[in-house]
Amino acid sequence: MVIFALILTLLLASCAQSVEKEPVSAPDVSVDAPAAETPAVEKYTPEPVSSNSLYVKKVDGIGNGFIMGMDASSVIALEDSGVKYYAFDGTEQDVFKILADNGITHIRVRVWNDPYDENGNGYGGGNNDIDKCVEIGKRATQYGMKLIVDFHYSDFWADPAKQFVPKAWQGMSVEQKADALYKYTAESLTKLKDAGVDVGMVAVGNETNQYFCGEKSWLKITLLMKSGCKAVREIFPDALIALHFANPENNSYPAYAEKLKEYDVDYDVFGSSYYPYWHGTLENLSAELAEVGKTYGKKTMIMETSWAYTAEDTDFNGNTIGEGSLVTKNYPYTVQAQANCVRDVINCAASTEGCIGVCYWEGTWISVGTESWDINHEKWEKYGSGWASSYAAGYDPNDAGKYYGGCAVDNQAFFDAQGHALESLKVWALAKTGNEIATKPDAIEDVNLMIDLAGEIELPATVNAVMTDDSKEAIPVEWNIDDAKIAEMKSGGVKKYDITGKAGDFTAHAYVSMVEYNYLQNWSFEEGESGWTATNLAATEQLYVEDKQTDSMSGSKHYHFWSAGKDTVEFRLEQTVSDLRPGSYSFDISIMGGDCGETEIYAYAITSDGEVRSELMPISGYGSWSSGNTGAFEVKDGTVTVGIYVRCSGEGNGAWGKIDDAKLNTSK
Ligand code: CA
Repeated sequence: MVIFALILTLLLASCAQSVEKEPVSAPDVSVDAPAAETPAVEKYTPEPVSSNSLYVKKVDGIGNGFIMGMDASSVIALEDSGVKYYAFDGTEQDVFKILADNGITHIRVRVWNDPYDENGNGYGGGNNDIDKCVEIGKRATQYGMKLIVDFHYSDFWADPAKQFVPKAWQGMSVEQKADALYKYTAESLTKLKDAGVDVGMVAVGNETNQYFCGEKSWLKITLLMKSGCKAVREIFPDALIALHFANPENNSYPAYAEKLKEYDVDYDVFGSSYYPYWHGTLENLSAELAEVGKTYGKKTMIMETSWAYTAEDTDFNGNTIGEGSLVTKNYPYTVQAQANCVRDVINCAASTEGCIGVCYWEGTWISVGTESWDINHEKWEKYGSGWASSYAAGYDPNDAGKYYGGCAVDNQAFFDAQGHALESLKVWALAKTGNEIATKPDAIEDVNLMIDLAGEIELPATVNAVMTDDSKEAIPVEWNIDDAKIAEMKSGGVKKYDITGKAGDFTAHAYVSMVEYNYLQNWSFEEGESGWTATNLAATEQLYVEDKQTDSMSGSKHYHFWSAGKDTVEFRLEQTVSDLRPGSYSFDISIMGGDCGETEIYAYAITSDGEVRSELMPISGYGSWSSGNTGAFEVKDGTVTVGIYVRCSGEGNGAWGKIDDAKLNTSK
C-alpha cells in the first residue's frame, strides 16, 4: 500500500509539473470547417407502429418537437462483442433504424475524455470517447434522429457521488482546467460537425449536483460550466445546452438554478435524472422542474429514466433492480409495466410547462452472450461492453477496481437477451395516439403480512392484480398452505415465509413475517408521533413523521430527518414503556439515509441497571435499511426507555434519513 501510494504521489507530482509547463492557449478549431459528409437527415421516414397486445394510455399535450430520447452509448461495444438486434418482424436490423421506427427522435451518448489506461486498454461502459460518439452520431443522423452529446468531463462514470478529474487535467488550477475544458469541448464538437452529425443538444456535465469535474464550490463549478457552454455556442449555435442534475427528491433544483443565475451561466435546458425506484414521485419531479422553468425561464427535460421488463438477470452480473432488490417496486417487472412506466414519465414531461422531453437510459444495453460469466467477462474486458473492465482499477480503484463486470441494466433494455425488440419499445410511438385496448391482469401484487406468533394465521382471500393499464383489481387467490405448514409457522419462532398461491394464471406471493409480540405503542409511526419523544440536540432542520409509503419500511409512515448543507444532525427518539412483566427483553429499530459524513447511530435501552446499546448502525443510501438490536437486557422494575440516538455530519445536500419499525420483544 505504501509503495503504491508513493508511486501514485510521484505520478501525480510529475503530472502536475508537466501540466504547468504547457502553455494555455485558445484552441485551434475551425468553426467553419466544411462537413465531410452530408447525410440525408430529412429523407428517413419511420415505419408506422401498431400493437395488438401493448396497452398505452394516450398522453395529451405532446407537441411536435417533443424529445423522445434513447441513450444508446454501449451499442458499438456490444456489436463488437457479437450482439445483434432484431426488429419486430424477426429480421436483423441496424438498432438505430429500429429505434427511429419506434418513435425515438434523439440518441444520447455519454462522452469520456480518455477512457483508456496507459496501455490502451478500455475502461468499459462502452469505452465511450468522442470517436465512439461520432460513430454513433453518424448512424443516428442516418435515420433522422438528432444526437444528445453527454460530456462527463471525466475519464469514466460521473454521477452525484463521483466527478473525477480526467487524468490529463489532474493538478491543474481551476483556470487551467476551464481552458482545457473549453478546448476539449470545442475540438470534440468540431469532430461531430465535420462528420455531419445532427447535434440537437449538448449536456455540459452529467448529474452535477454541486460537484463537477473535481470541484465542489459553485464559483469553480460555474466557471468550468461556462467555458463548456461557450464552446457549444460557438461550434453548434443551434444546439440546446443542457445542464444535468439528479435527485429531484431532495428538492434542491430551484436552489441550483438560483446559483446558475447568480454566476450567469448561459444554458437552455435544466435536465434531471428520474429513476422511479430512487427519485421520489413524478408529482415532486414535475413541481421541481416547473418551478425552475417558471422562475428562471429555462426549458427542462427528464434526461434519464428506466424500468425493468423482467426480474431476471441475463448476463451473470447482478442488476440494479429485480427480484430481491430493496428498491420500491412502483410497477411490476413486466414488458407491459416497463411501457406503463415510460408512458407515465412522458406524461409527466408533457404536462409540465416548459419540459421538452424524456430520454431513456441505455435501452439497448443487453447481455453479450448467455454461456457463462467467464465468456462474458472476456468480452467485457476486450470490447468494453460491461459497466467496467479491470483496466479501470487505476482510475477508479474503490468501485470499478473492485466490482468491474457486466451490465446491471440488461433487464431494463427494450430488447431481450438475444436482441429482439420488446413490445414495450412501441410505447414511444404510441404515447401520442394511445393504444387503449381491452385490459387484463399483467401481474400480481405481493402480499406482506406481520403475524403475531401467539395469534391466528389468516391469509387474504383476494390479491391485487395489476392490470395492463396499471389499475388494480382484487381477484380470488388459493394459497398453498395446509395445517402442517401453519403448525410449522406457529412453532418456528421469528421467521419470514414465502407462501405461494394461484391467482388466475399467475403465481401470488404472501411474504409472512412471524413476529414476537411488540410491547411498543405506535411502533411503525402510523399514529404520528404518539407515544414517542424526539429530542432535537442540534440544528436538525426537519424532524417529523412523514407520510410516504415508498420511503417506509412498514405501513405508510416513518420518522424523517434532514439537515441543510453540512450541518450536523443530532437527536434522540425514544419511548418509555411501563407495567412490563419483569424479565428479559430486546429492542430493535431500523434506519436508512444518505448524504451523511461521519455518523454515530445506535439503538439503546435504559433500565434500572443502566444503558445497553446496539452495534453502531451504518447509513448506506436510499432503500438500504439497517437495523440495530440492543440484544437482551433485564427489566426488573417493569419500566424501560428504548430509542435511537442519531448523530450525522452532513454532506452534499445535507444528512437525511428515515427511521421505522421499532420493536420491543421478549428475549428468550
Ligand atoms: Ca446483469
